[in-house]
Amino acid sequence: MRAEIVAVGTELLLGQIIDTNSALIASRLAEIGVDCYYQSRVGDNHARIVSSLRLALSRCDVVIVCGGLGPTQDDITREAVAEVLGVPLELDASVLETIESYFSRLGRPMPENNKLQALVPRGAEVISQMKGTAPGLICNVGNKVLYAMPGVPYELEDMLDRGVLQDLLKRQDAQETIRSLVIRTWGLSESKLAEVLSPEIDRLDAIGDVTLAFLASGMEGLKVRATAKGADEAEVNEKLDAEKTILESTLGDYIFGYGSDTMESVVGELLYDRGATLSVAESLTGGLLASKVVSHPGASRYFLGGVVSYATEAKREILGVRDLPVISSEVASDMAVGVSRLFSSDYGLSLTGVAGPDSQEGKEPGTVWIGISAKGDVYTKQIFLGGDRERVRWYSAMSALDLLRLYLKESPRFYL
Ligand code: ATP
Ligand code: MG
Repeated sequence: MRAEIVAVGTELLLGQIIDTNSALIASRLAEIGVDCYYQSRVGDNHARIVSSLRLALSRCDVVIVCGGLGPTQDDITREAVAEVLGVPLELDASVLETIESYFSRLGRPMPENNKLQALVPRGAEVISQMKGTAPGLICNVGNKVLYAMPGVPYELEDMLDRGVLQDLLKRQDAQETIRSLVIRTWGLSESKLAEVLSPEIDRLDAIGDVTLAFLASGMEGLKVRATAKGADEAEVNEKLDAEKTILESTLGDYIFGYGSDTMESVVGELLYDRGATLSVAESLTGGLLASKVVSHPGASRYFLGGVVSYATEAKREILGVRDLPVISSEVASDMAVGVSRLFSSDYGLSLTGVAGPDSQEGKEPGTVWIGISAKGDVYTKQIFLGGDRERVRWYSAMSALDLLRLYLKESPRFYL
């Protein structure tokens, strides 16, 4: 099967947003063995969307269009699809009901405009909207198929997995099921990860029923996705479980979580399981560390608070750090101890370092000390981070949480 992806949106053409949706769709198509022959982008213009879709249908068997399914004036993909199919748009009562209940859950009246999203080209199948208001569409065009999905990336990702890929697999081979497992890692570079996993990838290539893909997720670390195909759910789960065991033994505690886990959710749950509390003292991250910690729902079960001690005097007066250079093991240590005393928390986590772009105290940007005070003991670790100010700050927060994770899990890597 040959596929074309058509991304709709004038913002894409103006360079205001980057077309990450097409990249995501293309990578998932590759995993299930569907070849993507073309990717095109078109603005919010009826005639041009129609001609893009006709061209795509003329040269491919599978056309996936994303964007322009919203409720506003410039969301015209639905009309264009109906025109290409040569059918009218009809109100779908169950889609409308889902949209209405979405708004009633929010306690808001449904804007009249949102009713437009319940219009479905006659004969099209609907991919139900779990995360937003726009449904996806599955339209048969002769022996070809056209899928439409909303442009909002997290809505699209959900529909891609649930709706589009499952449907494509059915068309490819009526018998197959597919499922993926995402593993989240921190602390290995992309090239190191590829090196460590290369024997496993070779082994899988030879067998051919599980594939591994690396997904660089920016400041959130690297993900590894294992995708398995098989005759039924049980067979697929068995393959994925086996693969998970292999990945765990290869990557050890560089794996910090699975699926939708985040660094802060994992560390938070470890603290909660131990009935322990945390406070943080941060300098170069300016609140980012505390903000990450509280982004996990339920953080109030273990997080007591934080101090942003940016100025040297603040470090001394609020946290009682010694009169020493601030980019140092001693100050990281004093900050961690000081904050855990201030909040009477079991653990204190601290960060002091140089975010850049300029050096400080003769230390290069990216020089960072992490401190952990743990029930009377205190540990510090120096790390060196590359990249600009934003990246240094983000990686500092992630690295501090990761170090606490390794401590809580009693990992030998904590002491390296
Ligand atoms: P909405 O209901 O939000 O209007 P929609 O289906 O109409 O959804 P668009 O209006 O095209 O989708 O896009 C909504 C938002 O989703 C955009 O502002 C942009 O942030 C993001 N988005 C759209 N298309 C893409 C794309 N191809 N890649 C990445 N992000 C995208
Ligand atoms: Mg829109």
